Amino acid sequence: MKNSQIINEIDFLLNTYCDGCFVKTVLRKEKGKTVAHDFCIHSCTVGEEIRQIGDKLNSK
Ligand code: SF4
Repeated sequence: MKNSQIINEIDFLLNTYCDGCFVKTVLRKEKGKTVAHDFCIHSCTVGEEIRQIGDKLNSK
């Protein structure tokens, strides 16, 4: 997959699910940025998918 396709896929997920995400907003407000970021990466299936797609960029 081309880098531009990978970036488009990530963009799509961010725009569709992450923009205005209620969970992230509440976690950031109540627990801080680090906890919110940690949740996105380790506990959300969308975050997990973004990370997996991002790994394809890094492996090039
Ligand atoms: S990764 Fe999940 S929890 Fe984090 S902003 Fe996106 S949809 Fe929300």
